[in-house]
Amino acid sequence: MGTVRIFLPALIFIITAAASHTTPEISHNKDPAHTNHEVGTSFNYSPLQACLSLGGSEPWTDLITPLSHPTYYATVNHQWNLRIEKVYPLAYFLPRTARDVQNIVRCGLAEQIPLIPNSGGHSYEALSFGNNDTLVVDLRLMDAVTLLDDGVTAHLEPGALLGPIYAKLWIAGKR
Ligand SMILES: Cc1cc2nc3c(=O)[nH]c(=O)nc-3n(C[C@H](O)[C@H](O)[C@H](O)COP(=O)(O)OP(=O)(O)OC[C@H]3O[C@@H](n4cnc5c(N)ncnc54)[C@H](O)[C@@H]3O)c2cc1C
Repeated sequence: MGTVRIFLPALIFIITAAASHTTPEISHNKDPAHTNHEVGTSFNYSPLQACLSLGGSEPWTDLITPLSHPTYYATVNHQWNLRIEKVYPLAYFLPRTARDVQNIVRCGLAEQIPLIPNSGGHSYEALSFGNNDTLVVDLRLMDAVTLLDDGVTAHLEPGALLGPIYAKLWIAGKR
């Protein structure tokens, strides 16, 4: 009987504590200030497009804005970390060559648009997506993997991901 007297209050305390415990809230990409349809509507992309074009880049295919390429924009703007509020950058530029990278840096500076480089996009904090006022320089198309003649050194472009790197190095060097 003495045991029951000691354990019953303890049991009631544990049940009460468990009932009052709340599960930590997960934001699940809570609704951001912008939506895919709103972002960019008040931004004039023409000077940037003209600058890129003058430099020999292809803004009509490689500058992805929510207005010019809404579906493609939604695809490249995938942000996998559901704990971090989703952002809607002004645009994505997908360079194909070093000259494209030079052009977007030069034109971004000229137009005073903050640029954010994105290589793999895997940082836990989603740092490579910037915010609603930045332009993402998305390097996914620059993904070449080249094994040099010495057989032990490889040249990797910044958009190369680990899986394809392993596969390409195995094909090229068998290790
Ligand atoms: C499941 C998982 C496991 C991980 N394990 C490890 C681990 O074992 N060891 C470890 O060190 N990390 C680890 N990380 C962290 C992750 O690997 C690093 O954040 C990653 O290396 C970042 O590379 P990224 O190309 O994806 O960079 P991104 O996410 O694209 O960018 C990260 C930052 O670098 C900047 N940046 C990107 N590209 C360039 C560029 N070309 N020039 C200049 N700045 C650039 C971006 O603007 C951003 O600020 C892990 C992450 C995940 C999701």
